[in-house]
Amino acid sequence: MTHYALLIDGQLQTAEHLDEVLDPATEQVVGYAARASEAQVDAAVEAAQRAFAAWAADPQARRHALALAAAILRENSQQIAELISLEQGRPVRFTLGEVAGAAATFDHYASFETPPAEVLRDDEQRLVRIERRPLGVVAAITPWNVPIILLVLKLAPALHAGNTLVAKPSEHTPLSTLLLGHLLKDVFPAGVLNIVAGDGAIGERLSRHPQVRHITFTGSVATGKNLYAGAADDLKRLTLELGGNDAALVLADADIPAIAESLFWGAFWNSGQVCFAIKRLYVHQSLFEPLVAALVARAEKTRLGSGLDPDTELGPLTNRQQLERVKALVADARAHGAVVHTGGTQPDGPGYFFAPTIVSGIAAGVALVDEEQFGPVLPVIAFDDVEDAIRQANASPFGLGASVWTRDVARGEAIARRLDAGLAWVNQHLDVHPGAPKGGYKWSGLGYEGGLRGYDAFSDLQVINIARR
Ligand code: ADP
Repeated sequence: MTHYALLIDGQLQTAEHLDEVLDPATEQVVGYAARASEAQVDAAVEAAQRAFAAWAADPQARRHALALAAAILRENSQQIAELISLEQGRPVRFTLGEVAGAAATFDHYASFETPPAEVLRDDEQRLVRIERRPLGVVAAITPWNVPIILLVLKLAPALHAGNTLVAKPSEHTPLSTLLLGHLLKDVFPAGVLNIVAGDGAIGERLSRHPQVRHITFTGSVATGKNLYAGAADDLKRLTLELGGNDAALVLADADIPAIAESLFWGAFWNSGQVCFAIKRLYVHQSLFEPLVAALVARAEKTRLGSGLDPDTELGPLTNRQQLERVKALVADARAHGAVVHTGGTQPDGPGYFFAPTIVSGIAAGVALVDEEQFGPVLPVIAFDDVEDAIRQANASPFGLGASVWTRDVARGEAIARRLDAGLAWVNQHLDVHPGAPKGGYKWSGLGYEGGLRGYDAFSDLQVINIARR
């Protein structure tokens, strides 16, 4: 059984403790992750701090290394994709897409030109210019649902901007990130990229280290709030990509046969374990029956299975905790009178599988509607008046994504603008343009990831002001 080592100061390091990582489809051990000690976390941050000055001074070397990282990901895409699939559960056809997306992200930053310094004044008396300066050591803390792309979306811009980095993957899916460290070991100078694994306590140790200047985090709202509070003492910068409870609004003129497949995948891709998946579906009363029928038919022909089986469409939940949460939400919804049109059960056999589930008969006030389920269960809620649907969609502490489905695109756009969501779609959900800044309103996050706004988070500004006379 393979052991996966940490990457600290350019060296692969094992650890005193090894953590078992399970395949969620079989509950068998996939491999062992070295669990960093507190001393190893500190050593990683200190190595990153030592590597910072030389790395910050050489933009050419940075671009070259990022291009090399893209090539290495492509060469090893099958191996990385299979390991993600084994520890996370998603079918390989989708994890291959994740690795391709990560390679494209490295490529994007390899050729990305830092926007030029802005000159505010340049005359015989004064030169006033705004420049960017990297921050220093960045801590990147990532979740278990899409482990590699979520890391690379942080890593590539952070390193491009001249920072060094210590990454900590989720304890549920550390292996693919540790494999990435192994593959990229010689791509970056020692200390520029470090990877430590472990649980939340190790994440906390990392995030509170005095030499960490910026924390970039994707994960739960609870941990995000913790990090925000913990960063206050030292005024560390931070970017938080947190949960969502995305609403999709299907208007009375929507073409159900044309959109049912997209709605299904918008809710169920990765077994619903996506921060901006459709988590509440509001549909005009006149289309309620045909929409539910179409979703039930699609759910019932879905092939559940191991991610390694090429026929699988949906894998299991990634860990037992998440399966138990989804089961509890469905039980609570039933206790509140929900109608379960299909699914609602855990199939026999090993693994954290849950059948794709369509529920109706509940509304705000029930946890499955109010909270983020992060699993393959979709509540469908009928509305009469679109104003009421907009109000319900916005009545949430979350504000990540939202979508409107209609044949009248102009009306769809007008309604999308009124939804409290950093990502607002018309006739689609989930698609994110690589240049787009992703950010959530309210409890869904702080700051942006991607695009120029995301890139800006990895620098401070410095105003150079020179008296000429
Ligand atoms: P989830 O509940 O989906 O696992 P978390 O927010 O708990 O989401 O986990 C996301 C990442 O944050 C993981 O890498 C986890 O180990 C890490 N983490 C959990 N608690 C803390 C904490 N207090 N400080 C820093 N990182 C943490």
